[in-house]
Amino acid sequence: MTTRTTPPRPLDITAVFPELAPLARTAVRLHPRAGAPTAADSSVGGPLLWPAGEPWPTCPEHAGPWQHGVAPDDVHVGRRVLREAWTRPRAEGADLLTEEEHALVDRGTKPYRTALDGPVPLVPVAQIRAADVLALPRPEGTDLLQVLWCAFDHPEDDYSPRVELRWRRAADVVTPLAAPPRPAVIGSDDYLPEPCVLHPETVTEYPAPHELPEELADRIHAWEDGIEGAGEEPEVCYQYDLAVAPGWKLGGHAPWSFSDPFPMACAECGAGVRPLLTVDGTEWDGGSGSWAPVEDAGYTGYHSLGPALATGITIGRGYSLQVYVCEASYDHPPVQNMQ
Ligand SMILES: [Zn+2]
Ligand SMILES: [Zn+2]
Repeated sequence: MTTRTTPPRPLDITAVFPELAPLARTAVRLHPRAGAPTAADSSVGGPLLWPAGEPWPTCPEHAGPWQHGVAPDDVHVGRRVLREAWTRPRAEGADLLTEEEHALVDRGTKPYRTALDGPVPLVPVAQIRAADVLALPRPEGTDLLQVLWCAFDHPEDDYSPRVELRWRRAADVVTPLAAPPRPAVIGSDDYLPEPCVLHPETVTEYPAPHELPEELADRIHAWEDGIEGAGEEPEVCYQYDLAVAPGWKLGGHAPWSFSDPFPMACAECGAGVRPLLTVDGTEWDGGSGSWAPVEDAGYTGYHSLGPALATGITIGRGYSLQVYVCEASYDHPPVQNMQ
């Protein structure tokens, strides 16, 4: 298995602000990259190891007689067309796509009305084996986390897909399901992951500035200005270079961005929750470029499902979707939040 390696952080922030040291948390960057995972592998968008006798989950809110959306097969075709188009030589000013290709891409991205005769099956999003991620939080006796979602917007979930989790013991799946039901329609191509293999890597994170005491956040801000000169775009930014890693990850700190942190609690028992999984549209972007793995150095474009966009997922306008689990019981439903 090839690996992905986050470059060392530009500096050790705890040497400057020792009060951050106790707030350090471990996160496992998953580094999803295009591949052909099997049900025996950890993956994003790959097949799940699912017992043949266990019903496949569906969403009662998205059922017949019809839904607006696109067909998963058309989404994959459209993406393949785009990927091929980006890699072929093109004359200056020439169109990226032919007319026929345009129609194929549109077919996978523009929602239309589809008749349905029942509730929509959930889509496999991720599968993580404890054998690949030793630190995987999990109920005792289990060694496999499976993440599925209903690939439609749910108004009461920040207009994002609704997540369901399954923990199981891989050895219990004696007769695996050969072909899971696939939805005839999903709400958006943004919610259909491309098959990716994972390259888990452990990193250290510190809280986003929004989660720090205001006094400390102010001192960090003044320090950023001090090292770069006030008014200049800082070359080292606490939030983007030193605090929270971008991309798909387990654990760590929440990437608070457009809203101030608010307390979250388990809907079932009121206990606290902790970050389990972050689903992100990009593995890194211009602002968080220092987190790009050394193995992906030289990759510049953000088109065609390259390494930074391999999953094909988009959450809101470049946000991420965090899934939290109850601190009291793994049996309680996950809490999700878009940031
Ligand atoms: Zn739904
Ligand atoms: Zn609970």
